[in-house]
Formats: sequence, C-alpha cells, structure tokens
Amino acid sequence: MHAQDASFDPATFDQHVMATYGRFPIALTRGEGCRVWDSEGRAYLDFAAGIATCTLGHAHPALIDAVSRQIRRLHHVSNLYYIPEQGELARRLCAGAPLERAFFCNSGAEANEAAIKLARKYAHTRRDVSTPVIISAQASFHGRTLATVSATGQPRYHRGFEPLVEGFVHVPYNDFAALEAAVHELEREGPTVAAILLEPLQGEGGIRPGDPVYFQQVRALCDARQILLILDEVQVGVGRTGEFWGHARIGVEPDVITLAKGLAGGLPIGAMLCRRSCDVFEPGDHASTFGGNPLACTAALAVLDTLERDGLVANARERGLQLQRGLEALAGRLPGKIADVRGWGLILGVELGTNEPRAAIDLARAALTQGLLLVPAGPRVLRLVPPLIVTAAECDEALASIERLF
Ligand SMILES: *Cc1c(COP(=O)(O)O)cnc(C)c1O
Repeated sequence: MHAQDASFDPATFDQHVMATYGRFPIALTRGEGCRVWDSEGRAYLDFAAGIATCTLGHAHPALIDAVSRQIRRLHHVSNLYYIPEQGELARRLCAGAPLERAFFCNSGAEANEAAIKLARKYAHTRRDVSTPVIISAQASFHGRTLATVSATGQPRYHRGFEPLVEGFVHVPYNDFAALEAAVHELEREGPTVAAILLEPLQGEGGIRPGDPVYFQQVRALCDARQILLILDEVQVGVGRTGEFWGHARIGVEPDVITLAKGLAGGLPIGAMLCRRSCDVFEPGDHASTFGGNPLACTAALAVLDTLERDGLVANARERGLQLQRGLEALAGRLPGKIADVRGWGLILGVELGTNEPRAAIDLARAALTQGLLLVPAGPRVLRLVPPLIVTAAECDEALASIERLF
C-alpha cells in the first residue's frame, strides 16, 4: 500500500467538490495494466478504463517513457508557434483516414464543438445557407457544453439548461426513412441542413451499433445534397471496436471525424479531422490554449506506436469475440437475466432483462464487491470497455465475476 492511500476522506471531498457525478464509494489511487487499487488497498479488474479511455491500461511503460521524456523537454507552449509533435500526430492520423486536416483540443465535447462550428461555417460560406441546421440522433451523446448538449438527443441532459443552442434536430437512430423525411422537411424551401452528426455506435445511449445499410444511405443522401457527414468517434475511435476507425465497422467514409477518449490513453486530448475540401477555418476562427500541446500529442503518438507494435487492434477484436461469446453463453445459462449482448470489439453492452431504472448502476455497484469495475450505458445496459491490452485470462476472470454477480 502506498503512503498516501489511507488518508482519503470522502466527507471532505463531498464538502468541496460539486456533486455533478453519482460516484461509486471507492477512491482509486494506483493502477498497473488492467488492474487498479483503492485507498484501502483492494484490487479491481478495470473494465471501465476511465470510460473507454485508458487504451494502454495503467502505468504502461511506453506511455510513462514518452510522457516523462517530453515533460522534461517541453510540455506546453502555444499554438502561436509550430508544435512538431502535433504535426506528426496529425500526419499519422490522416495517413490512415480519408481525411487530410486536423484541429486539436482537449476533450470530446470540444472536438464536437469544433465540428459544429466547421459545419456551420462551411454551410454559410460554401453553400450560402443562412440558418444552418445539424441533424443528430435520438439517444445520442455528444458532450456537455451547451452546443454539444443541444446536439445530444436525450432530454434528460437538456432539463434545466434551456434555452438550448438553436439549429439542432433529432431523428431516430438507424432509421433512414425518418432521417430522409426530416431533411426533406427542413429543405422544402432551400438548403438548410449543414451536417448530419452521428455515432457509428451509440455509446452512452446503450451500446447500439450502427447499421451499415443505414449509414450507406446516409452517405448517399449527404453526397446528393452537399451535407457534411460528421462521425463522432470520441468513444469508438482508436482501435476500440477491433478496427482502428469506428467507421470501418459501418463501411462509410465521413467528411469529419471527432476523437478524444482513447486517443492519448488517458491524457486529455481531443481532435477533429476533416477532408481538405471541408476545411474552411482561417486564422482566428477557432482556438484552444491547451489544444494539441507537446505533452498530449506525445502521449497520443505513444498510444499509436504501441497499438501498432503490439497488435492491440487485433487484440481488441479477439478479446471482444471471447467476451461476447462468454456473455452470450451466460445469457443462455441465466434465462431472463440478460436481454441482449451487443457491440464491436472491446465496446460491449449487456442489456439487462428488467425494467428497473437503476438496474445497471446497482449491478455496477455490486460488481465492486467482486473486484470488477464496470460502468453503465443508460439505465439497463452494463458496458464493458477494458483497456486494449486486456488478456484472455483477464477476460475469463471478468466473465466469472459477472456470472457470480447474477
Ligand atoms: C464521452 C463522449 C463525448 C464527450 O467527451 P468529453 O471528453 O467528456 O467531452 C462525446 N461523444 C461521445 C460519443 C462520447 O462517448
């Protein structure tokens, strides 16, 4: 146990930190690989990974080395100067995508903010649209800033914060007829739809994979009307789905992609990538003080190097299949307890066979007593998003813990 471990006092914490989160009753103070320890010295297998963020788990030597070297050299300057690590990260990300331009920020919400501003400016300047609208999906999640919460198609995130930002319309996910009808309605008197913003798989909305046929229809509609297709890959990007890009799972090439969670393995970063033809930003249009600083970009480069060197995208695919098969077998042994198992690679959802609105959070709490960290994705879905370094033995261990939970 570490010296600082025993001193944690939740009452003092709660006195001064705003209660914006429903917190689990543990304080995590140390980690290694897929394992973390709390302030009492108890160990947990981490299938939350900072919500799909700690791509390389905890205390990974590649991340430690890269970040330690960089912080000794230079950790932050300003985007008023060239930042070589940022240029290299942009080059590497664009090399594997149909996109050529990058903007860096610090979070998923900021990446989506950048995409929203880009889409609006594109519509104003390239298509002479005076009041651009962005269509997104019901049950989506795009962040908690005012514009991204307005883009988010879940009323529970809106309540209390009205008036929302104008210019967002929500349609059912995976339903092309509904989307097409909304576009026709909005464009009855001329072009208004700047962009369609979708997750390839809805994460917070309950681990709902996108339908490739739907996405191909969306792509064709966007092409026909000069609408930008923005894919929010904040949760599914960077190998999590068993493909480097989430959109490889739905077979479409977007105009804009947003990334954040797993990109720097747990250091704060966000990125928006777009096609050269969509890049309408000029000096002064958008900025971020911390965005793309040398430390965050070095961390992201270490993540990309390690994914490649250790074949972690293939590992995500294989371990994902192992977990999915294990969970399906479990569903068979426990009739009625598990309504559905779905997802891609290492982003999996277990939909519980109950209507109890606290079912998922209660099970995630119970999992703590089994030494397993899990997070819900909505009221009735347990989410499994372990680090991409997870081993077959650790997956078996998690499956055994989940079976005991039920
Ligand atoms: C987490 C998430 C966001 C928001 O990211 P933050 O870093 O919390 O701002 C946006 N979109 C999706 C799909 C996410 O999963």
